[in-house]
Amino acid sequence: MIFAAATVELSRAALQHNAKKAREYAPKSKLIAVIKANAYGHGAGQVAKILAPEVDAFAVARLDEALVLRESGIKQRILVLQGFLQAEELPIFQQEQLDAVVHSEYQVELLEKSQLSGRLSVWLKIETGMNRLGVQPSQFKSLLMRLRTCVSVADDIQFMTHFANADDRKDPKTKQQEACFLTTIKGEAGDRSVANSAAIIAWPSAHLEWNRAGLMLYGASPIIGEKASSLGLMPVMTFYARVIAIKQVKKGEAVGYGSSWQAPKDMLLAVISAGYGDGYPRHAKAGAYVLVNNQLASLVGRVSMDMLTVDLTGCSQVNVGDKVTLWGEGLPIDEIANSANTISYTLMCGVTTRVKASWV
Ligand SMILES: *Cc1c(COP(=O)(O)O)cnc(C)c1O
Repeated sequence: MIFAAATVELSRAALQHNAKKAREYAPKSKLIAVIKANAYGHGAGQVAKILAPEVDAFAVARLDEALVLRESGIKQRILVLQGFLQAEELPIFQQEQLDAVVHSEYQVELLEKSQLSGRLSVWLKIETGMNRLGVQPSQFKSLLMRLRTCVSVADDIQFMTHFANADDRKDPKTKQQEACFLTTIKGEAGDRSVANSAAIIAWPSAHLEWNRAGLMLYGASPIIGEKASSLGLMPVMTFYARVIAIKQVKKGEAVGYGSSWQAPKDMLLAVISAGYGDGYPRHAKAGAYVLVNNQLASLVGRVSMDMLTVDLTGCSQVNVGDKVTLWGEGLPIDEIANSANTISYTLMCGVTTRVKASWV
């Protein structure tokens, strides 16, 4: 067998487990699995197939992402979180039975001008403090009335908003956004959705008719400073590479581009077969860990495109060809994200196409 230099192994069982966990956290709510950006880099088609029996609906960011899912045979409800931008998209939403998020007045106008043969399911999104997408609370009543009289819109209009700071259990803004949302829609009948992964875990009052779980399904922690494992989540993606060289360096010798790191003593190093060209973060700090034969080894020098280098001090029995874990099972992706001053979302999304992925 020829070893692949960089691979990701994706765990079906972990994905199913995390979906069940999302339900356990919020047993009264229906569950929307957010699988935008190719299911956070895990492969949207396969993730949707595995999750179809576990969830009530899917959400993607854009129309083209929804079409890929329909083509692969997904029959469930799919919310398109950015809705539509042009009149030409509306018949496609209708044909493919996609739910559209309406976040701006121009979209209401497009619906009013459209002549569809059927009616679209619409989620009216309200701006409550994120200042990204959503209609202002002051516009809400009049836009809702217009949507309700629009022949292209299905009767049961749903309401949603999105939290900016739900990942911080101490931040009062989440409660303020929730209150703003509830006040705005007061007296209006319709299903509601506000909770992302962080709110599913940390803000039970935000569990309404529908929740939208993204990150937690993939097994990373959506809460600042809390470990995924302590939240009951299991990593779906494990990123592997191989030891391709072992070398001795002397005290004071530099390793990698820019010679930014020098050995503080005579040391044994291993060169690992993955780098930023595979999606390992170039900005990971010296000291970030990898696992070599279940032993921690820390990064030294700059990450290059196809390789990175680690310190084998304290590791025993390491050989060329040994498998190395860069994140995932045994090495939380959140720790690597922290070492690179980023978030686990970007690492998952950033695994490149040359990395061979397989489901187990
Ligand atoms: C991406 C997204 C989500 C999922 O967020 P997670 O933090 O990954 O759970 C939910 N709702 C909206 C509107 C989103 O854009």
